[in-house]
Formats: sequence, structure tokens, C-alpha cells
Amino acid sequence: HTKSIGRNTYSYFTHAMNKEVSRRLAIEEQIHGALERGELQVHYQIQLDIRDGSIMGAEALLRWDNPVLGIVSPAEFIPIAEQTGVIEPMGEFILHRALETALTWQQTFNDEFRVAINLSPRQFRNPNLVQLINDCVNQLGMKPKDLELEITEGVLLSGHAYTLDALMALSKAGFCISMDDFGTGYSSLSYLRTYPFQILKIDRSFIKDMNTDDTSKELIIATIEMAHALGIRVIAEGVETQEQFDELSFMMCDYAQGFLISKPVVLDELLKIGEHYIKSIQINKEPHLKSA
Ligand code: C2E
Ligand code: MG
Ligand code: MG
Ligand code: MG
Repeated sequence: HTKSIGRNTYSYFTHAMNKEVSRRLAIEEQIHGALERGELQVHYQIQLDIRDGSIMGAEALLRWDNPVLGIVSPAEFIPIAEQTGVIEPMGEFILHRALETALTWQQTFNDEFRVAINLSPRQFRNPNLVQLINDCVNQLGMKPKDLELEITEGVLLSGHAYTLDALMALSKAGFCISMDDFGTGYSSLSYLRTYPFQILKIDRSFIKDMNTDDTSKELIIATIEMAHALGIRVIAEGVETQEQFDELSFMMCDYAQGFLISKPVVLDELLKIGEHYIKSIQINKEPHLKSA
């Protein structure tokens, strides 16, 4: 009996492994040409200024809908896009789309709005990255301050010779550089010393636990205080409850992003939010002006 259980267990795992491997292969196969076939979409998730409840900007996030694979999450396809190199054209695509969206928002609502995109390690291997971003912004008659560039520790760890130079050049040109998923890496603090961050995004995992775990809460408080002392603003990621929002407001966190405010949505819906947000986003029951 034991033997047959062992064998079943074995075949269960090989089956699961085969499934995983074949999905990966299918992703690798399908990802080429996904852009050309129009399978990639850009969604936008609003970022709110906690102090006055205004919409400060939005983060652009890629979505992939493929006829064979269905909806594939970026967590699954971005690493493969990185390895295969297709992240380069994808990155240019999202850069262009995101900026067009910011322009539309600025012309319709307010010209302080800015859009954030995520940059991946591979993109920093391109010696023309800075030029490419500058050109795109100029083409649309926009300003560097209209664009925020989110990078994770992965970019800094990849250690390409150009990375620091590129980030310095982008920062000098006036682009806003932000550190994504702050607190999950190995040496987040030392990065703050070396790289020109203007914004720090506290990782969702801390926000998720803040109302039940005192350590997470204390770490958030300390992070906000440290960032402010360095002249860096703070975005809380993954804000899902009113309780979290109120607490973050009390902690003087600058901006909030999360399902409480809005899920990532397509352009049309983003613009609808723009039209109705004062009515539809009822999170500011009292104005958050405790600090004023
Ligand atoms: P990220 O940059 O940290 O983006 C935030 C992720 O958290 C998004 O997942 C978003 O949908 C999710 N999120 C936002 N608010 C909430 C919330 O309240 N609760 C929960 N549970 N989740 C929330 P998404 O869109 O699946 O993206 C995952 C990651 O994929 C991103 O993490 C980013 O690292 C990467 N990614 C997405 N688009 C791009 C892209 O265009 N280029 C690159 N290089 N990476 C991208
Ligand atoms: Mg991000
Ligand atoms: Mg993040
Ligand atoms: Mg994240």
C-alpha cells in the first residue's frame, strides 16, 4: 500500500510539474507577437493625495488577454517577457500609451496629473533608455514631471553599468523616480542613499497587516518619518479598507493606491472616474486635513 501511495504522490507531482512547464512553454510561445496581435492592454490605477483627497495620478499596469491562455497576470508573464527580451517593445508601448493617457487627463481635468510606469531590469540594459523616454515625452509636448518611473530592487540588483547613470540622468532631467515594493528587498535603506528617489511605495504586505500586526504598523510609521526627513514622499500600496486609509492619513502618509479607491481600469473607465470621483469616491467623509 505504502508503495502505491508513494507512486500516486509521485505521479501527482510530475503531473502538476508538467502542467506548470507546459504553461510556461505556451506563454513563451504566445508572448512573441502578443503586442502585434493587439492582445496587450494598459490598465490604470488611481493614486490619491491623502491630504486633500484629490487624484494625484495613476499607475499604468499591463494586461495580457490571449486566445489560448486566457488572461495572463503580469506576475506570470513579465518575468518571461524579461528573459525573452519582448519586454523592450512592451515597455515602449506602455510608455507611449501611459503618456497619451496623462495628456488626455491633463487636458480634461487638471494639468498636475502624472502617470507612473514600471521599468524592469532588462530595459536598463538598453543604452538608449534615457533618450527613448525623453523622446517620447517631447513628442507629446509633455514634461518630465508628468512621468513617474517605478523601479524595484530587481533593477538595482541586476547591476548593469548603465543603471545608476541612467537613473541619475533621468532624475536630473526632472523625471520622478520611485522605489516600488519598499521593504521587501534586502537592503532598501542603502538604496535610498545611492539612488535619487523622490517617492517610496510601501509594499502592500505591510499595509495588509497594519491593523492586526503592531510591527508592520510601527515599520510604516518609521518609514514615513524617515522618508519625510529625506524629502521623499510616500505612497501606500494595496489600501483595501477605510480603516487602513484613516490610519495612513493619521500617520501623515502622502498618497494612497489600492482597491478601496479603485481597481486598475481601462482608459474609458479612468476618465469616468475623473468625471465622477467626488461623488463616487466617498472615502473623504471628513476632509483629511488633520495636519493643516
Ligand atoms: P506593482 O508595480 O507593485 O503593482 C501593484 C500591483 O498590486 C498590481 O498588480 C495591482 O493590480 C495590485 N494591487 C493594487 N491595489 C491592490 C489592492 O488593494 N489589493 C491587492 N490585493 N492588489 C492590489 P498587477 O497589475 O497584477 O501587477 C503585478 C506586478 O507586475 C506589478 O507590481 C509590476 O511589478 C508588474 N508589472 C505590471 N505591469 C508592468 C509593466 O508594464 N512593466 C513592468 N516592468 N512590470 C509590470
Ligand atoms: Mg509598480
Ligand atoms: Mg508595488
Ligand atoms: Mg508589488
